[in-house]
Amino acid sequence: MKYVGAHVSAQGGVENAPLNAHKIGAKAFALFTKNQRQWKAKPLSEESISAFKNNLHEVGIAPEHVLPHDSYLINLGHPESEKLQKSRAAFIDEMQRCEQLGLKLLNFHPGSTLKQISEADSIVRVAESINLALQQTADVTAVIETTAGQGTNLGHRFEQLAAIIEQVDDKERVGICIDTCHIFTAGYDLRTTEACEQTFAEFEKVVGYNYLCGMHLNDSKPDLGARVDRHESLGIGKIGWEAFRYIMNDPRFDEIPMVLETIDSSIWDVEIQQLYALIEE
Ligand SMILES: [Zn+2]
Ligand SMILES: [Zn+2]
Repeated sequence: MKYVGAHVSAQGGVENAPLNAHKIGAKAFALFTKNQRQWKAKPLSEESISAFKNNLHEVGIAPEHVLPHDSYLINLGHPESEKLQKSRAAFIDEMQRCEQLGLKLLNFHPGSTLKQISEADSIVRVAESINLALQQTADVTAVIETTAGQGTNLGHRFEQLAAIIEQVDDKERVGICIDTCHIFTAGYDLRTTEACEQTFAEFEKVVGYNYLCGMHLNDSKPDLGARVDRHESLGIGKIGWEAFRYIMNDPRFDEIPMVLETIDSSIWDVEIQQLYALIEE
């Protein structure tokens, strides 16, 4: 079964996110559990936590199908030790917020070298950051997102993701979220069935589907290999519908949250319906 939704607003409190998901017919969703552009956040209140759990139950979405996204400020591969510490503390706080909400996953971008250290050194830091966070939490899986490879961002090659996983001690609690826009602009073609077959076979070979915990379903404004992160509404970007038809009909993408981060939130309800309509009998 496919669980499709969108990255919905948590404005006014995290407890609003399940309601916003329900309004657009989502069976899964993503949210920020704090302001994604600020370091500091107030702890979640008891009221907010219990309202979130109640609302999630009310709308019939399982905690396994919620894919929270961490703050954009966090860089778990940071070259400078003070800033690395700050990122690690913020990441652990985000993992703990997920735990408080009864959620199982936290999606994050691996990190950036900032051209100050080698890719390999930065990857060591990312993996160590994950190890530290897993030691201080019990129930949440750290879900590394594939990136477009803009600037000095890591995570645009499947080999980099595999190298991070390789260095994580608890392999039961590390996973991958494939963002279709990001892998496409990183250079993995998705425009035809054959291209999808090749790209996802490559993912299977280098990383493995056992690590796949979620998907971000986005079309792409930039072209294949542009290494620029700009999402587009489904079907009107450079990827096109074929990729989404492929994904919706492939059982390897069953049971995981699949989340739209497309640019026009006013049509998310339509896009969700369009995705389900792609499923062939
Ligand atoms: Zn992301
Ligand atoms: Zn994404």
